[in-house]
Amino acid sequence: MKSYRKELWFNIPARRGFINITPQVEEALLESGIREGLALVNAMHITASVFINDDEGGLHHDYDKWLEKLAPHEPVNQYRHNDTGEDNADAHMKRQVMGREVVVAVTNGQLDFGTWEQIFYGEFDGRRKKRVLVKIIGE
Ligand code: ZN
Repeated sequence: MKSYRKELWFNIPARRGFINITPQVEEALLESGIREGLALVNAMHITASVFINDDEGGLHHDYDKWLEKLAPHEPVNQYRHNDTGEDNADAHMKRQVMGREVVVAVTNGQLDFGTWEQIFYGEFDGRRKKRVLVKIIGE
């Protein structure tokens, strides 16, 4: 069995944002040379997510509004976590809802997606460099 590991780096200039990272994962898959197996893609930070959905701008706007309703950033003093001097309690919660990782089947050298599926990085406490791990195993 072959195994391949790569870290992808992102620096979202705003507090929150979503980007389609499917091309970077496809590039990693190509580099791995693996044709049949599994690809794991996970955020390496507790205030960011990796998830799968449709690549649609309206949807990303809707996620942001929905997440802000669930866990508004302001007022920051509503969260006990922020008593530590941090201001990112909402980002921890948004990450919890949107998830840590995805696993995608690799078939015939391709990511074996369902209809319209794409892989996204969701940032909830940005303006700094953060990592995503890609681990691919198979043959
Ligand atoms: Zn925190």
